Amino acid sequence: MSRAGAMAEKVLVTGGAGYIGSHTVLELLEAGYTPVVIDNFHNAIRGEGSMPESLRRVQELTGRSVEFEEMDILDQAALQCLFKKIMRVHGVKNLVFSSSATVYGKPQYLPLDESHPTGSCTNPYGKSKFFIEEMIQDLCQADKTWNAVLLRYFNPIGAHASGHIGEDPQGIPNNLMPYVSQVAIGRREALNVFGNDYDTEDGTGIRDYIHVVDLAKGHIAALRKLKEQCGCRIYNLGTGTGYSVLQMVQAMEKASGKKIPYKVVARREGDVAACYANPSLALEELGWTAALGLDRMCEDLWRWQKQNPSGFSSQA
Ligand code: UDP
Repeated sequence: MSRAGAMAEKVLVTGGAGYIGSHTVLELLEAGYTPVVIDNFHNAIRGEGSMPESLRRVQELTGRSVEFEEMDILDQAALQCLFKKIMRVHGVKNLVFSSSATVYGKPQYLPLDESHPTGSCTNPYGKSKFFIEEMIQDLCQADKTWNAVLLRYFNPIGAHASGHIGEDPQGIPNNLMPYVSQVAIGRREALNVFGNDYDTEDGTGIRDYIHVVDLAKGHIAALRKLKEQCGCRIYNLGTGTGYSVLQMVQAMEKASGKKIPYKVVARREGDVAACYANPSLALEELGWTAALGLDRMCEDLWRWQKQNPSGFSSQA
């Protein structure tokens, strides 16, 4: 138990107004941390005053206030100013980095463990995650006063059980499940299934979908790890179970009670047939494991979609 009056530990959360960020901020608050959020509103909706709507709702849900500053992390002067302010008090040399399973590129074997080779990424997003991973590892190697936990996310989906926060992609969703749920609610006509000629059971792509709340809790476990002066550590955040596109459609039909029409189209460039985690290292070393299964992911996603048919934007 924390001592009454003890100063809550501050955690700087970059991009904290977005989908994964807002769920992580909520978990941080519930775990007793004080998150300080910066975001440039690239993928967030403005709420009242200067707050993003997602964080306004996090405040409502937790009854706690969130420190927020609108800032672009490419704005070096502003960032330095913020770091100075925080570093003077805390000396920030501990980092949790949001990486991605796409750093593994085309899997050489499955399930993917953390020692699978990285770098031959199939898209620029993965390459940027790979480069940053390399820089952080070099930094921790060269300066032992730094600690970092690199979290390789698999496919986060779902939403907070309240239905008050969730994923709100701007424009046409790139990812499967936001698209599927927009079809279920009637915002889009039919899902395009990107290929059914992969070497998988039903021919469609297989991914390791993980509930965003489980993913958020993985960050709390990572912060605890940093306390051990762990150096640079790398963990997969996935469930270990893969589902195909058609299995996901079926699961969402069950959760929503809606028919989800789809048509099969060409493969999407850069996609791999199957990608799922071996999540055992995170269990061994972080004591973290995904707790919520596919049904919960789809039920929570549907609740969010139903309660917020136009996401965080208020309806016209
Ligand atoms: N996918 C699809 N239609 C879509 C979006 C995605 O068939 O509109 C497929 C995609 O080919 C992949 C799976 O769904 O097999 C997950 O795609 P997503 O973009 O969500 O995640 P990623 O490919 O980055 O793991």
